[in-house]
Amino acid sequence: MEKPRVRFAPSPTGYLHVGGLRTALYNYLFAKKNGGIFYLRIEDTDRKRYVEGSVEKLIHSLDWAGLKYDEGVYQTAEIKDDKIKVIGSPNYPGIIEVGNFGPYIQSERLDLYKKYAQELVEKGHAYYCFCEPERLEKLREEQTAQKQAPMYDRYCLRNLDQEEINKNLKSNCSHTIRLRVPRDERIEFEDMIRGKVSIDSNTIDDQVLMKSDGFPTYHLASVVDDHLMGTTHVIRGEEWLPSTPKHILLYRAFSWDVPEFAHLPLLLNPDKTKLSKRQGDVAVEDYVKNGYLKEAIINFVALLGWHPGEGETQEIFSLDELEKIFDIKKVHKAGAVFDLKKLDWINAQYIKKLSLEELLEKTRPFFEQKDFYIDATADKKTDEYLKKVLRIEHERLSKLSEVGESNKFFFQNILYDKNLLRWKEMADEDLESSLEKSRSVLENISDWNLDTLTRSLMEAAGDKKGDFLWPLRAALTGEQKSPSPMEVAWVLGKKESVKRIKEALGKI
Ligand code: GLU
Repeated sequence: MEKPRVRFAPSPTGYLHVGGLRTALYNYLFAKKNGGIFYLRIEDTDRKRYVEGSVEKLIHSLDWAGLKYDEGVYQTAEIKDDKIKVIGSPNYPGIIEVGNFGPYIQSERLDLYKKYAQELVEKGHAYYCFCEPERLEKLREEQTAQKQAPMYDRYCLRNLDQEEINKNLKSNCSHTIRLRVPRDERIEFEDMIRGKVSIDSNTIDDQVLMKSDGFPTYHLASVVDDHLMGTTHVIRGEEWLPSTPKHILLYRAFSWDVPEFAHLPLLLNPDKTKLSKRQGDVAVEDYVKNGYLKEAIINFVALLGWHPGEGETQEIFSLDELEKIFDIKKVHKAGAVFDLKKLDWINAQYIKKLSLEELLEKTRPFFEQKDFYIDATADKKTDEYLKKVLRIEHERLSKLSEVGESNKFFFQNILYDKNLLRWKEMADEDLESSLEKSRSVLENISDWNLDTLTRSLMEAAGDKKGDFLWPLRAALTGEQKSPSPMEVAWVLGKKESVKRIKEALGKI
């Protein structure tokens, strides 16, 4: 294979969508695997959808994910080679463009699109359309009423002679430029994932290429750029599949080589509907906010439509590993279900791999947002104390945001009913003596560590585990369910544990 050049070409409409992250990741992996170039292009020709700050957000998200690109738009970049062109973006202050195929932002390439649209008109592959929006709307309504697919009726192609076109252009009549789609042809291409795709040209509308505001449509801009930027493989979501025949017609009309195409499977909700904002989060940043680790998100997203092979059971892959084993031919055709339970499981695997120190660093911002932590006394906010809590919770966490949630008693005073202390039908006297015994065992432990606590309490429990351990656990936590009394006592420390037992005794 020649050295591939692939791209991620997001539109700056607000944030990085999880589907966008997958597209970026697969392009990145494809480039890495095949020793190619991965570049970032900003497709901002739809000014109505532009959201301020999104270019910066996209750059930040790719950087966060570790998906380094070789060319495109950056906020800062280290340039080692003085043959590489670097410009400041005229439209986005603070953004620089690095690479010899720029500008990499479509709103800075408007003259190019104009020139190429003109060329298509001259060659007879495109034509001016002066129809007013009202006429087009009426046409659409009529066609819909007759159950026909809305399509432009070629009024301007059929009725205007050159003289009239020139007159309209001279008097600055608002107009678009449309692609003249050939009739009665099959447009065919080989998709790397879906195999042969074949479409009847009669079902394709005469697509607008240049809008009346002087901006190109996505179709023209992306084909012109993919050609001029040397894109060899267009890897993008399946939602763009219907656009591809139009793009092929454009490549043909320009007599340009057609790149390879790979359309990635749709992302689906568990009920098999298209992944939507309504059913859950779609922005990558929301997953980070909800306590998922970067490595887990990348791992999960990599598996949305790809797996190394039949019979392979491995599910945990680092980015490094993916760079070596990713194979675009193993991407599936069928929609990929976005299964949050799987993401939770993957996340738990990565959390388990963290050291306590790392876990503390990553969970601290989550602790700091929680009321039980905010209201806790200073001794419960020290690194030492938090690490103890984390040591107990570590194995059980599937999201960083869950820290402390099911064990708030580590941080706050507890409230409970006396009956919670009772194991089965225990009489009050037995309950009292059980707790007294706990108190004395704990008071006598000089070496406060998990081993000693476990040994001493198990010994004291003898063969009456429930009668001894339940009241103690309930006295320490005030909860029906919690980690073991040894673990809880170890975290709380001797003073607090004894204090809680005394409070429990006071209730009997
Ligand atoms: N700008 C398009 C998007 O927002 C890119 C589609 C393509 O990759 O061709 O997804």
